[in-house]
Amino acid sequence: MLKYANYDIVFQEVPDEVTLAINITNCPNACPGCHSKYLWEDVGEILDLKELNRLVEQYKSGITCVCFMGGDAEPKEVAELAWQLKSTHAGLKMAWYSGKNDLPQNVSTDHFDYIKLGRYVAELGALDSATTNQRMMKRLSDGRVKDITQWFRENKKVEVIKSETKTEKSQTNINSIQ
Ligand code: SF4
Repeated sequence: MLKYANYDIVFQEVPDEVTLAINITNCPNACPGCHSKYLWEDVGEILDLKELNRLVEQYKSGITCVCFMGGDAEPKEVAELAWQLKSTHAGLKMAWYSGKNDLPQNVSTDHFDYIKLGRYVAELGALDSATTNQRMMKRLSDGRVKDITQWFRENKKVEVIKSETKTEKSQTNINSIQ
């Protein structure tokens, strides 16, 4: 069962969207250098459709997107909740921040408008780093999927010192256009 620790309304996590970002606990990824170790434990409020609807109702006049931050221990549940929410909220975008390098097997992710993939590797940096291994994919209106990771570098607020470490790109099983 999915649980979440907290949530926030954010502006940078999903390009050009006002996003209700929900931090899901019980993260199985144990990325070295993780800044959110409080999400490793199986704690928090239960995140089922009723709770998700309650959160969305509270902010629906201001948000354009809901982002599931994590949930890699139960990807089927994340995908199911996103599908149910999308079916009842026309126009509301669905995003998923996964810490895995690849999409889960046997789980349909077609209804996500955005998916971020890739473990956090401190030396390579997050999405706004030139050396990042992470990727943000956007589903276009014609169904194709585009890698939009570059957006995060172009819209970065704080300059960081460039690292010369080797880039380890995420391998995805989405056929994307560049
Ligand atoms: S995916 Fe990695 S960085 Fe994110 S909470 Fe889990 S361990 Fe931390």
